[in-house]
Amino acid sequence: MTADTQFPLRDGILHAEDIPLPELADRYGTPLYIYSRAALHDAWHRYARAIAGHDALICYGVKANSNLAVLHEFQQLGAGFDIVSGGELERILAAGADPRLVVFSGVGKQGWEIRKALAAGIKCFNVESAAELERLADIARELGVRAPVSLRVNPDVDARTHPYISTGLKENKFGVDIRQAPELYRQALQHPGLEIVGVDCHIGSQITQIAPYLDALDKLLDLIDVLAADGIALRHLDLGGGLGIRYTDENPPDPAELLTPVFAALAARGMGHLQLILEPGRSLVGNAGVLLTRIEYLKRTEARNFAIVDAAMNDLMRPALYEAWHGVVPVAPRTGTPIETYDIVGPICESGDWLARGRALPLEQGDLLAIQSAGAYAFSMSSQYNTRPRAAEVLVDGQNSWLIRPRETLQELYAQERIPHRA
Ligand SMILES: *Cc1c(COP(=O)(O)O)cnc(C)c1O
Repeated sequence: MTADTQFPLRDGILHAEDIPLPELADRYGTPLYIYSRAALHDAWHRYARAIAGHDALICYGVKANSNLAVLHEFQQLGAGFDIVSGGELERILAAGADPRLVVFSGVGKQGWEIRKALAAGIKCFNVESAAELERLADIARELGVRAPVSLRVNPDVDARTHPYISTGLKENKFGVDIRQAPELYRQALQHPGLEIVGVDCHIGSQITQIAPYLDALDKLLDLIDVLAADGIALRHLDLGGGLGIRYTDENPPDPAELLTPVFAALAARGMGHLQLILEPGRSLVGNAGVLLTRIEYLKRTEARNFAIVDAAMNDLMRPALYEAWHGVVPVAPRTGTPIETYDIVGPICESGDWLARGRALPLEQGDLLAIQSAGAYAFSMSSQYNTRPRAAEVLVDGQNSWLIRPRETLQELYAQERIPHRA
């Protein structure tokens, strides 16, 4: 999907579905995150079509966008969830999720998080180390239950993406070296507190080719053969998330382009009985959102022109963190204004506070800009740095809009802080 499918330009004004963006800016203020319900559904249905007729489960990668309203949409569509913390577990339960469709990933699961997930009755713990396996077994035994486990293996494949979002190489902190996995599975088999149910990998994010997935799958299938020879039978194979989206000129594969060869490989290797789990985050929400922001000032310096906007790195961290590229489009493109090259920056006192660089645009002070592809790793990574309230979030459905998270108030930002009273 291109970034603008549900954010069309109509009569010279950018819309979210059927609502002109200036109307949303007037009603809710800026900076404002706007999500299209139709875009969420479109993205979901591309996965749903790709798995039709197969035993497969899509577990939405919650950290991409964890607003309850977004989680609720996916829950209603039949999604499971991939969580990485006890906090995310609370969120998805609050959104109405069925815990039996939940997988729990992450390298640092704490005791309370494991207890909480065992009590909820989740589908699977994706275990990332020998030490975690031991802790999980101990807690399960103490509670008198068996923890369903899958090892997250590191297949040592290069996802060919940004180093910060590549997770399947030997040097990453994630997963268990695939060569050590058989031994760990054998240990798990001995623990009365553990029930082996699957195998898992997640090789990175914003992946735009299918080859790395197929390489990883091959290695996982080899591992499953080795385990079978040891009498260890699995119920599912989890290929993780990571499918990319188009931010600018990327051409990521559609879910069907990825899954057709995956199902074919499973069948060819006699593994058609395994349930396939996927954990997509970005590809379900990334292009379903924009960040709406207003230009406060245009500033011309000898070296550069700056458009200083009311959104900043605290609202959208990806450019500062990964030098990520987001499309920036004027909400009401001007015809009479000269096009100049601008860096789009926020008000935060950091030189890293930029949202886009070197964009040729016809801009005037007070104009609204839409920062595209802001549905994933955008609000969910936001902070209150510089004592800036986090932005409001709105969900649009046709001509209707819902405020799904109000803008934080200034008082909320320090309400929990205390000044010590000394005698
Ligand atoms: C972040 C994450 C995902 C989702 O990744 P996307 O690139 O957003 O699809 C899935 N699984 C795990 C284990 C993750 O850490």
